[in-house]
Amino acid sequence: MRTVEDIEIRFPGSLAEALAWQADEKTRGRPLAGGTDLMVQWESGVAAIPERAVSLWGLKELKGIRETPRGIEIGAMTTHTELRSSPLVREKLPALAAAAATVGGRQIQNRGTIAGNVANASPAGDLAPTLLITDGLATAASASGRRDIPLAKLFTGYRKLDVRADELLVSFTLPALPAGAREKFHKIGTRAAQAISKVMGACRVRVQNGTIVSLAVSLGSVAPVPVRLPELEQWIAGRRVDLNLLEEVERRASAEVHPIDDIRSTATYRKWVSGRLVRALLEA
Ligand SMILES: Cc1cc2nc3c(=O)[nH]c(=O)nc-3n(C[C@H](O)[C@H](O)[C@H](O)COP(=O)(O)OP(=O)(O)OC[C@H]3O[C@@H](n4cnc5c(N)ncnc54)[C@H](O)[C@@H]3O)c2cc1C
Repeated sequence: MRTVEDIEIRFPGSLAEALAWQADEKTRGRPLAGGTDLMVQWESGVAAIPERAVSLWGLKELKGIRETPRGIEIGAMTTHTELRSSPLVREKLPALAAAAATVGGRQIQNRGTIAGNVANASPAGDLAPTLLITDGLATAASASGRRDIPLAKLFTGYRKLDVRADELLVSFTLPALPAGAREKFHKIGTRAAQAISKVMGACRVRVQNGTIVSLAVSLGSVAPVPVRLPELEQWIAGRRVDLNLLEEVERRASAEVHPIDDIRSTATYRKWVSGRLVRALLEA
């Protein structure tokens, strides 16, 4: 039986070299970022042991966080530690910084990357809701060019992404928190540390003179893909924040999600706690 030791791990010298390998089925390898998801999946048999893996760890083109006119551009190989400690991310994308700080422990944060978290395409991936609330883009590259994918269309099903086998995710471009808006991330798990979420979510909200101008809210672990709550978002715009509103928000958020039972929680609990969580996100 093949084991992890049988995998040929290749180390490209540049992104162009990696993309050239990925273009051809005979040289293509499983993208390997920090390996914190893949190593566990290979060892446990959840993912098939591939012939080859392409390590992206050393590719400088996939690193870095910078401000651009389209938003904050984050390289695919940016680690959770880099996200949580970046002054730019903490100021302009505070929910993302907060989510990165809750992923696993320090070892996982030092090694796990934003692209790995997204491309693993688990509904329990903590970063996804914080990306979805920005209405940002993921950029995928292949040997024949680059394309931007709206994050709202990236997750196509359970563990499925709109990224082809010859493509690699290279960056994420996330519009910064607008003036007058605030963001929050919250995660509910069995315990505070090293726990995969039962439900988690993030919101970006703008309130002016006590009235909600706009709300973007996203939850994970309540559907096969991370979701936004468009009905709630539409309903709430223009309404005054008070106790009645928060109670109605809790009811509506809970009604808008349709989770399932699995090893981490029950559908009933997830539905109830989704309402509580969205309410908590809105309570400043
Ligand atoms: C003990 C432990 C605790 C954890 N806790 C959490 C937690 O609290 N929250 C959470 O969300 N996750 C958690 N994880 C999961 C994991 O650490 C994160 O999802 C991490 O961000 C994965 O990133 P990686 O770089 O290690 O990805 P990898 O394991 O290298 O890759 C993951 C997937 O992404 C693909 N991939 C990677 N890079 C690219 C790319 N550039 N383009 C296309 N595909 C790509 C790989 O082929 C693979 O399918 C935990 C894992 C462990 C082992």
